[in-house]
Amino acid sequence: MKYVSSLFILMLSTMMSCNTPAPKEADKTDDFQFFVEQFADLKILRYPVLGFDELTLQQKELVYYLSQAAIEGRDIMFDQNNRHNLAIRRTLEAIYENYSGERENEDFKAFEIYLKRVWFSNGIHHHYSTDKFLPGFSLDYFSTLLQDVAEEKFPVSKNEIVKTLVPLMFDPAFEAKRVNQADGQDLLLTSANNYWGEGVTQVEAEAFYAALKDPNDQEPVSYGLNSRLEKVDGKLVEKVWKVGGTYSPAIEKIVYWLEKALAVAENDQQAKVISLLIEYYQTGDLKTFDQYNVAWLADQNSHIDFVNGFIETYGDPLGLKASWESVVNFKNIEATKRTEIISSNAQWFEDHSPVDPRFKKETVKGVTAKVITAAMLGGDCYPATPIGINLPNADWIRRDHGSKSVTIENITYAYDRAAEGNGFLEEFCYSEEEIQRQHQYGFQADNLHTDLHECLGHGSGQLLPGVNGDELKAYGASIEESRADLFALYYMGDSKMVELGLLPDAEAYKAAYDDYIRNGLMTQLTRIKPGDDVEQAHMRNRQLISKWVYEKGQTENVIEQKVKDGKTYFVVNDYKKLQTLFGQLLSEIQRVKSEGDFDAAKLLVETYAVKIDRTLHDEVLERYATLNLAPYSGFVNPKYVVEKDADGNITNITLDYTEAYTEQMLRYSKEHSWLPNVN
Ligand code: ZN
Repeated sequence: MKYVSSLFILMLSTMMSCNTPAPKEADKTDDFQFFVEQFADLKILRYPVLGFDELTLQQKELVYYLSQAAIEGRDIMFDQNNRHNLAIRRTLEAIYENYSGERENEDFKAFEIYLKRVWFSNGIHHHYSTDKFLPGFSLDYFSTLLQDVAEEKFPVSKNEIVKTLVPLMFDPAFEAKRVNQADGQDLLLTSANNYWGEGVTQVEAEAFYAALKDPNDQEPVSYGLNSRLEKVDGKLVEKVWKVGGTYSPAIEKIVYWLEKALAVAENDQQAKVISLLIEYYQTGDLKTFDQYNVAWLADQNSHIDFVNGFIETYGDPLGLKASWESVVNFKNIEATKRTEIISSNAQWFEDHSPVDPRFKKETVKGVTAKVITAAMLGGDCYPATPIGINLPNADWIRRDHGSKSVTIENITYAYDRAAEGNGFLEEFCYSEEEIQRQHQYGFQADNLHTDLHECLGHGSGQLLPGVNGDELKAYGASIEESRADLFALYYMGDSKMVELGLLPDAEAYKAAYDDYIRNGLMTQLTRIKPGDDVEQAHMRNRQLISKWVYEKGQTENVIEQKVKDGKTYFVVNDYKKLQTLFGQLLSEIQRVKSEGDFDAAKLLVETYAVKIDRTLHDEVLERYATLNLAPYSGFVNPKYVVEKDADGNITNITLDYTEAYTEQMLRYSKEHSWLPNVN
C-alpha cells in the first residue's frame, strides 16, 4: 500500500512498450544495454544511473559507501525467507563452480535456471506468488552433481544436504508457501518464512504482541519489527537483529559502510539521520528507529538519499516482521518539478474531488514527493524492485510528520526502453491509433499516474469519527489501492493536468485510460495460472475498477468488447464518460472506506475483482505465450569502480555496466556474504 508493489512493476513491464523518453536521456543511453537475459518467468534488466557523473566527488563517495551498505545485507534476506536458504544457495553455487561433468545438456541447463531463480527470489519460493518453485531436473541428476563435487566445497556435509535441503528443494508439499494468508489456518505454522521460530503458533504470537501494546501510547514503536520470535525452554523470546545479536556479521558490515558515509554526509541533518541509523543497528532499539525515521523525513535538502533497514512487512503473514532492504538514490531535479507541482496543488485536488464533502480532508498536509534516480538496490529490493516507495510505515509518524513519496524514474525508464518492440502492444491494442498514442504518451502518462496514486491518492480523504480503518479487513487493501488508482485516473482526464503542464495536451490522458482498461480487463491475466482466481490486492483493484466501469458504461457503449480475427480487444469509445464513471466509483469507494462499510467492500470485491472469464483467460495466455515475454523483471546493479591516487585517496568513482547476472550474483556471494548457514 505504502510501497508500490512489484505488481505495479508488472504493469509496466508487460503493459508498456512506449518509447518516447525525454530526448536528453535518450541521447545518453543510445548504446545502453537495458536487456540482460531472460529465463523461466523472469527477465533481467539493467538500469542507467543517469546523472551520476555530474555528482561532486564527495557525493559520489557518499553514494558509493551507501551502495556498499546496500549490498552487505543480502544474506539477511535469504535467511529471512527460509532458514535453509543460505545453505541451499551455497550448495548450488558450489556445484555450479566445481562440477566437472557435461554442462551443455538439458539437465545442467535446468540446474542453472534453478540456481538463477533462487538468486532472483532470494530463496526457494517465488518472489511474487511466494509459492515454492521446483527444480526442472530430477533428484537422481542432483545426486550425480553432488557426487561429482568434493565434500569440502559444500557449506554443509553431503549427508546434511540429502537429509535437510533435498526435501526443501524437491518436495512440493513441504514448506510449500513462504507467506500463507489463507483464512482459517495457523498462518505461522503454515508459512515457510523464518520470521517465527519453530513451533510458535499464531495464537501465541498474537497474544505476545497484544500484551506489549499500550492503548494509550500515542507514539507506539513498531513492535516485533526487527526480531524473530522464538520458543526457548517453552518461553517466547525475541531474537533481535542487531550488532551483537542475530545477523550481527552482516549488520556490522552495514554499520562499517554507514560510518564511512557519515564522514562525507552532505549536511548536518543527513549526518544525524545516518548516526541514528547506526545507533539503531547497534542497539536494536525501536524507539531509535522511530527517531531515525522522523529525522529522515526532516531531511528535505540533501541531494542523496537512501532507505536501509528492516522496512516492509509483506513477507510476514501477521505483518509485524520486516524484511531487510536498501535503495540508494539521488534526486532527479528536472522530473521532481512535476511532483512539486502536484504537492503544491494537493489542496486543490482534495477540494475538487468528486467525493462527498464529509469524507474530504479540510487541510491536506505532509505531502512531499520527489522523483529519484536509483544508484543501488539491495535486499528485498534486489533484483526485483518497486518503482515507487512511500515511507515511513509507522502510522503515528505519518500522522504527525507526514511521509516521503518517491518515484524511481530510471527504473521505469529502463522498463520502458527494454519493452521497445516486444510486440506486446501490437498484440493487445485494437487499432494503430491506440498503439501510436501509447508510444507518444505512455511513459509520461504512466509516471504521472504513479505520482498521483502515491502522493495524492493514498493521502486523500478522511474517515468518519469512530471509524478506525481496519473495518474492511481482508478487503481493505484492494479497496485502498482502488481508491488511490481512481484518484489518479479521475484527475488525469481533468483539464487541470494540461493547465499545470503535467500532461502535454488533451490527448495524453487517453493513453492512460486505454492502458488501464486493457490491463485491468485483459492483459494482467497473463500473470495468473489457468483455473486460478485473482488474489493479489493490486490486481484485484485493477480488475474491480475496469469491470465496474465496463459494466456501468454498457448502455452507452463507453467501453466496447470487440473481436477481430478471432482475437478479443477492449476499446474505449467515450473517454469523457469514462472519466465520469471513474469519478462515480471513486465517490462510492471513498464512502465505503470513510464509513468502514464492510458489506459494500465485500460485495464490490467479490462481484468485480476476483472471478475471471475462463475463455478469455485462455485466449490471453495463448496470445501472450506467442510473444515469448517474461511477466516479471529484476535488475542487475552497476558495479562501482573506485580510482585512487598513490596515497590511497579516492580521485574518482565511475560505474561499470558490463557485469552479467550470474557474474554479479557469484561476486556478491563471495565478497558480501557474512552469515552462517543457519542464524
Ligand atoms: Zn498504492
